[in-house]
Amino acid sequence: MSNLKFVCPFHSCFLTLGECCSKCGYQTKSTSGNNITFRRSGDSEGIYKSYENAYEDLAEDDLSNPIYAEEYQSDLAVETHREIGSVNGLNVAELGVGQGFLQKAFLSETPKSLLALDIAEEYIENAKKIFQTSGNSSTSFYTSVGNVEFMPFHESFDLVVATDILEHVLNLGNALVRIASSLKTGGKFACRVPYKEALGQYSIYNKQKYEFAHLRFFNESMLKTQLKEVGLKPVQVYRNGFQPGRFRKVVPSFFGKNMARLFSLAGHYGNNWYDFNRKSRTFPLRILRSIHQPLELLVISQKV
Ligand SMILES: [Zn+2]
Repeated sequence: MSNLKFVCPFHSCFLTLGECCSKCGYQTKSTSGNNITFRRSGDSEGIYKSYENAYEDLAEDDLSNPIYAEEYQSDLAVETHREIGSVNGLNVAELGVGQGFLQKAFLSETPKSLLALDIAEEYIENAKKIFQTSGNSSTSFYTSVGNVEFMPFHESFDLVVATDILEHVLNLGNALVRIASSLKTGGKFACRVPYKEALGQYSIYNKQKYEFAHLRFFNESMLKTQLKEVGLKPVQVYRNGFQPGRFRKVVPSFFGKNMARLFSLAGHYGNNWYDFNRKSRTFPLRILRSIHQPLELLVISQKV
């Protein structure tokens, strides 16, 4: 944990682990098994409390019956890791570790340290198991259960990664300010979000079980604007998550239907919906990506 510096997010004063902010009572704590928690005073009720509870339920459901096919998530993690590049020797934080697909990919290398953070304790218990079974004895691994919006970390990481997180947070500005603060100067933030997504599917009137799900969507310029505002300069952009028959708007729908049939008959799409994303990672099927609409956008930015 030697790379970690803590501040009160509200008063920017430095804190040692376990110390309370003298002005507002904000507190960081180290609990058993290298786990860090942080609390504002008086945040045990209200909207953030019900938000936390919703994610405890979601994590429990997701771990027993994955919301997205594991093959797809695993493929996406491998691709994201490749695009981020090597994490060897870096102090890394993964925010919203979820089922831990990317965590596994990172632990296949030897980052100097890896912090796995999630709002849901169940995911963190799972992250600890992943580390224990990874066989990685070189990386200093620790965890944190908490909400990204109130993280105390200050200039602690070379790389912060958040995949499928920013569409969930209640206050995007809070999350981005805390993420930028947690990075060292020159450090990178790799952020993967849903790309131009329709949000009606997350309505409770459309059989959405969870009170909080995706609260916003992104396109490239919207995401870049938000990053720049907190001093993060976008340096690389990638698109991931390609699905059979999901074409870009430039492809007229009548044409798209026939093309999808053709690609399917030719075997380009594979047997399962998640096969195409993997098959199209390399040439020659890579060319087909240019007419398909990706589900996800990955922007890597750098703290200047
Ligand atoms: Zn304070």
